[in-house]
Amino acid sequence: MASAVEQFFTVKARIAAAEREAGRQAGAVTLVAVSKTFSADDIRPVIDAGQRVFGENRVQEAQAKWPALKQAFPDIELHLIGPLQSNKAKEAVALFDVIETVDREKIAAELAKEIARQGRSPKLYVQVNTGSEPQKAGIEPREAVPFVTRCREVHSLAIQGLMCIPPADENPGPHFALLEKLGTEAGVEALSMGMSGDYETAIAFGATSIRVGSAIFGSR
Ligand SMILES: *Cc1c(COP(=O)(O)O)cnc(C)c1O
Repeated sequence: MASAVEQFFTVKARIAAAEREAGRQAGAVTLVAVSKTFSADDIRPVIDAGQRVFGENRVQEAQAKWPALKQAFPDIELHLIGPLQSNKAKEAVALFDVIETVDREKIAAELAKEIARQGRSPKLYVQVNTGSEPQKAGIEPREAVPFVTRCREVHSLAIQGLMCIPPADENPGPHFALLEKLGTEAGVEALSMGMSGDYETAIAFGATSIRVGSAIFGSR
C-alpha cells in the first residue's frame, strides 16, 4: 500500500487539478488532513512533508496527541470536526484553531464564555445538517441563517464559515449547493465540505476547505 506521504501528494495533485477544472484559483482550497484514530507517529511524516492543517473529531483524543506536535510546529492549524459537548468547550477553545461544529445555542453560549475567559479566539463554523438526518449533528438548513445571526448578535461570536456532512448514500452535489447558498445568505467566507470520496465534487461546488482522512492515512 502507498504510504501516507505518497497518498498526501496524490491528494494535493488531485486538489490542484480539481481547482483548475472548476476555474478556481490555485491554492483556493485548504486541505484539512483528518488524522482521527492515527497516532502522532503516523501523523509526523505528513507534517514533515509540509502539511500543516489537521482535523480531529474528538476533543480528548486530540488532547492526547496534539499539544506536543503543536509545540514542535507552532504553525499547525488544528480543526475540531466532530460534535462538541458543552462540558468540553473549555478544552476545545484551548486547543483548537478552528471549531467547525457549532450547532446549537448552548454550545454558542459556552464558547462565548470560554473565549472571553481564555482570551483565545478559534475561528468558528456552524455545522448544517443538510440532509436533516435525525442521527446527525448540525442545525437544520432552515434554521442555519437565523442561528448564525443569533451567534453574532446574542453571543458576539464571529462566525466565519459553514460545514456539512452529506448523507452517505446520496449524491453530495445538492448538499454542497445548499451549503454554498446558505453561506452566501449568512455572509460567511468559509465552506467546509467534501471528504475522501467526494472532495473533487465539493471543490466544483465552491468548498474553501475539504476534510480528507482515509485517502491520506488509509482506512480506519
Ligand atoms: C472522519 C471525518 C472526515 C474524513 O473522512 P474520510 O472519508 O476518511 O476522508 C471528514 N469529516 C468529518 C466530520 C469526519 O468525522
